[in-house]
Amino acid sequence: MSTRWRPTPAPAPRWLRFNHELAVELGLDAEVLRGDAGLEIFSGRRIPEGAVPVAQAYAGHQFGHYSPRLGDGRALLLGEWVDPQGRRHDLALKGSGRTPYARGGDGKAAVGPVLREYLVAEAMHAMGVPTTRALAAVATGEPVRRERTLPGAMLTRVADSHLRVGSFQFAARAGDDGLLTRLAEHAIARHTPLLMGQPGRYIGLLEHVVQRQAKLIAQWMGLGFIHGVMNTDNMTISGQTIDYGPCAFMEHFDPAAVFSSIDEAGRYAWANQPGIGQWNLSRLAETLLPLIDPEPERATELSTATVQTFEQHFLEQWSTILRAKIGLPDQGKVADQLVADFLTLLRQHQMDYTLAWRRLADAAAGDEVPLRTLFGAHAAALDGWLLRWRALFGTTPGAHRALAMAAVNPMVIPRNHQVERALEAASEHDDLRPFERLLDEVRRPYVPRAADNPYIDPASREQTACYRTFCG
Ligand code: AMP
Ligand code: MG
Ligand code: MG
Repeated sequence: MSTRWRPTPAPAPRWLRFNHELAVELGLDAEVLRGDAGLEIFSGRRIPEGAVPVAQAYAGHQFGHYSPRLGDGRALLLGEWVDPQGRRHDLALKGSGRTPYARGGDGKAAVGPVLREYLVAEAMHAMGVPTTRALAAVATGEPVRRERTLPGAMLTRVADSHLRVGSFQFAARAGDDGLLTRLAEHAIARHTPLLMGQPGRYIGLLEHVVQRQAKLIAQWMGLGFIHGVMNTDNMTISGQTIDYGPCAFMEHFDPAAVFSSIDEAGRYAWANQPGIGQWNLSRLAETLLPLIDPEPERATELSTATVQTFEQHFLEQWSTILRAKIGLPDQGKVADQLVADFLTLLRQHQMDYTLAWRRLADAAAGDEVPLRTLFGAHAAALDGWLLRWRALFGTTPGAHRALAMAAVNPMVIPRNHQVERALEAASEHDDLRPFERLLDEVRRPYVPRAADNPYIDPASREQTACYRTFCG
């Protein structure tokens, strides 16, 4: 499932960003890697001693259509790194040149998308969402041809692993049951070691992936995150978010929100994400059938039942997240109804999804003004809802409730217009300051900001209306 391959060295590498904090967390030698030695490695000019880089093979459904041969077209797994806690990570280059899986692609990445991945992954991590992260971003000194000519870049990605639903699809159709078994055993050892050697381990693996993805997608949705390209090759077995190509955060609440230029049918819209997640997991389940039970009917029955639990897991997670967001974590169905009604208010009045929740935290502390100001002319629509909400407060002091709410409702997310501004400055004008500032902000999503902080402001409605993302 992989081919030994070497990166195409960048001709004139320059640092864009080194993730010092992540390097330290991983137990890497940050002081050495932040210098020329790191620049050489992260630009594909030097292979770390003992590493054997490979391009990984995978298949996948892209927008519902099956491709038997995708794979790392412009990425290479450098190797695995075991951190001081004994956890194993993949280190991979992205934008490191064509590989045998490149098909028509040029194997390259541009500065803008590389920095987007860096930035959004750091924001997700700071908001507690499982995600791959960027260890380094370097400019290659080489132009990349897209619609326009852009400066090229390479990203070094850290992941729990790069195993995807598409990896299993590839193995299942390789005509070699031994390969599929080895892949499943490898995934179990890597991601659910407690199942190793257990009799029901293959259905157990599926159960784990179902649970992780249900939680992950609920977390995305709680933050207004739209992945944008939930193809089966972009869904991990680890439960980490991967591939930040066309992702975006929703501004005003619209369940049908889509930003990706290629998602014309809205397949990957905000509200469709759980359904698509479950669809992708059915594809994973299909690949595991021969391992789950030698009796085909029994295997189908077991795997179908397991994939169906996605719904329940998702709804539980979603409910837990939203109850916490309105500050009523211990309430039952009443809280769910309040949540549903709050979402209806947000949709009817097209309120900013991030700020509305955050202003609700202020209201819990006793200050309704920011929330009412946000609703503007529609503030009266809140009256009945706020009364019902307060009626459930019990004896918990408002300040406590507000603090708990502020810890789950971010004040700063990577707003699309801010992301674009930062990437444009870096890509067009070689100016990394807006990127650095935005990165610094999104790494502290829950910290209170002054009302005039520009990073909390939504984009204007015009900016949002025509905002599109591209796969990069
Ligand atoms: P994605 O939609 O980003 O998940 O990518 C789908 C497939 O296209 C993967 O196999 C990628 O490796 C491949 N790919 C994307 N961009 C390029 C590129 N510029 N050169 C080669 N392969 C690419
Ligand atoms: Mg991908
Ligand atoms: Mg991509």
